[in-house]
Amino acid sequence: MELARLGARVTTLESRDGPSHLSRAVGLQPRSLEILRPSGVADAILAEAIAFSGVSVHLRAEEIARLPLGFDTASRIWGLAQDRTESHLETALTHYGEIVRYGVAFQGLQQTPDGVEIETSDGMLHADYLIGADGVRSSVRAALGLDFPGHDLPGLWSIADVEAENWRDPTRFQIFLLDGGDVLVVAPLEENRFRVISSREDALGALPVKMDVRRVHRKGSFPISIRQVQTYQRDRVFLAGDAAHCHSPVGGRGMNLGMADAADLAHRIMTKATDGYHAARHAEGARVIRLSERGRRMVNTTNPLRRAFAIRALKLGTAIPALGRAMIRQLASG
Ligand SMILES: Cc1cc2nc3c(=O)[nH]c(=O)nc-3n(C[C@H](O)[C@H](O)[C@H](O)COP(=O)(O)OP(=O)(O)OC[C@H]3O[C@@H](n4cnc5c(N)ncnc54)[C@H](O)[C@@H]3O)c2cc1C
Repeated sequence: MELARLGARVTTLESRDGPSHLSRAVGLQPRSLEILRPSGVADAILAEAIAFSGVSVHLRAEEIARLPLGFDTASRIWGLAQDRTESHLETALTHYGEIVRYGVAFQGLQQTPDGVEIETSDGMLHADYLIGADGVRSSVRAALGLDFPGHDLPGLWSIADVEAENWRDPTRFQIFLLDGGDVLVVAPLEENRFRVISSREDALGALPVKMDVRRVHRKGSFPISIRQVQTYQRDRVFLAGDAAHCHSPVGGRGMNLGMADAADLAHRIMTKATDGYHAARHAEGARVIRLSERGRRMVNTTNPLRRAFAIRALKLGTAIPALGRAMIRQLASG
């Protein structure tokens, strides 16, 4: 969408038959909205997103910490299901005269001195550049012969999107530290609609407080991998988003990081300054993975000392507002 806004001709291939209806990412960071402001997508998102009012942390059912959000621009986090965000991006893409070609899959590539020959399920294409933004199992990454080094967490995490009435503090992001080092999160998706996600098998069953669930929109489980490709760029072919990096949902960074990759790359392509893309975005990806993993180990640990330290730090952050704001700033930065 950014490339089209800046005046490039863009062909977008999507192997699925239509848009995804999975809610996946919820939290939108200020930086993402800044990126989406010139196209008007930020305004469209803000018209229906929920402003998170704060973060509560519970030890089992007992609330032990309340941290603020929205006290300055950097700490303003907005919640919207990813399929809605994607729909606004697609509307803007169409506005700039381009479309998503659904049901067409990338199948292979060959680089030439002045471009890329691309094999698709609907014939050959020639392009000046190719961006592989095709997710964790990226075929573009495979076609470049690149590994995806890292590791997988044991077990599966679970997710449920629900409608619930009278949920406590419906605009707060709520974290529950469970026994055995497990963690559960309830995030607002829209009015009376919430995302429950847990490192345990059954997110709804693991919720230690009562939730008056009226409807379950979706339940499922997913594996978590922490991986990053060694190079984001081979000549005229680039990787962006989950094709280049993946990590746990702790910190809610994956989609935001991918958008920042894409916007950075769009500007570089338009100014013919693509050489720095790998160095800039690989470093940023590594930083975000470190941050997300630090947060995950803090809330999802079987080490009693580490958990006791996390609880103490969270309680201090609640008791000393300046410290609480500093903790949130560090989490929200980037
Ligand atoms: C349960 C869950 C919760 C999450 N929560 C958050 C959150 O709160 N905040 C956050 O920032 N992130 C979150 N994420 C991560 C976020 O969803 C991803 O980081 C984001 O979707 C990555 O976007 P992407 O476009 O890089 O990849 P994807 O969203 O995976 O999109 C890749 C697309 O490429 C298509 N494709 C694949 N192969 C081909 C091919 N050969 N040809 C054509 N098309 C192809 C796929 O069909 C897919 O539509 C969450 C993820 C999950 C699973």
